[in-house]
Amino acid sequence: MEKLRERAAALLADGTVSLVIGFEEGTKRPRPFFCRTSDQASKLIFDSRCFHNLAVYVTKKELVGKEPFAVTAPIATLRSILQLYVENQLKEEQMLILTADPAGELFELRSFDEISAYVANFELKRGEREEEILHKIEGMTREERWQFWLNEMSQCFKCYACRSACPLCYCTKCVVEVNRPQWIHPWPAPLANMEWHINRAMHMVGRCTACGACGEACPVGIPIDLITRKMMEDLAPEFGYIPGLPARQGNALSSWRLDDREQFIR
Ligand code: SF4
Ligand code: SF4
Repeated sequence: MEKLRERAAALLADGTVSLVIGFEEGTKRPRPFFCRTSDQASKLIFDSRCFHNLAVYVTKKELVGKEPFAVTAPIATLRSILQLYVENQLKEEQMLILTADPAGELFELRSFDEISAYVANFELKRGEREEEILHKIEGMTREERWQFWLNEMSQCFKCYACRSACPLCYCTKCVVEVNRPQWIHPWPAPLANMEWHINRAMHMVGRCTACGACGEACPVGIPIDLITRKMMEDLAPEFGYIPGLPARQGNALSSWRLDDREQFIR
């Protein structure tokens, strides 16, 4: 932790970066902290409680501006950052990553290739919660799965916290706010909720990096992250592509190969 504070203070003092996006102690748990001076760097913390996905801030131009900035990033955040690079939402020269391995050693990563090489050391696997719920869902019939998600989605009251927490939800105008035409009804109701959730899932397919931030943000505990996570898992054997893992070849739904099974490209 001390090494991180010293390095952040030095980067701010010599002007290498003008902002460090990191964590500070909150009332109950760590919270995002936007550190702009070397004096403030002593407040930075970075440990296993710092899982909030700070990649959600790196596309906010009003926050990061055009100056170089640093961000403290655990593995899930690094995967989001790789995906944002693939989607041309970040410039390599603007961002410096500060991360620490489980032993606490500090690493500085400055490019897509450096982040990719670092992330490749960590396997993307289901945690206990994901395994328990997805295993149950995978054992259901199609009808039972539909009913499971209908029940879950009926609790949704459209606060859009899941959207705000997702680093890959960076559109400045979301389809849910368009009302000419009104694609998605704005009120919470069974059909209107499904319109929102099916739309969200379709927009995330091939892009979700399974960071879990959307599920964590949902105030009524809908395991919404598991829909997009499962799509990611199912996509991998079909397309040979896992969002957020080392690859520069683009998105599964916006790239193609001449040997694709389907005929549309020929
Ligand atoms: S898990 Fe949720 S927040 Fe994370 S990338 Fe996927 S959809 Fe976005
Ligand atoms: S965070 Fe939960 S309640 Fe809010 S819109 Fe998303 S799924 Fe619905």
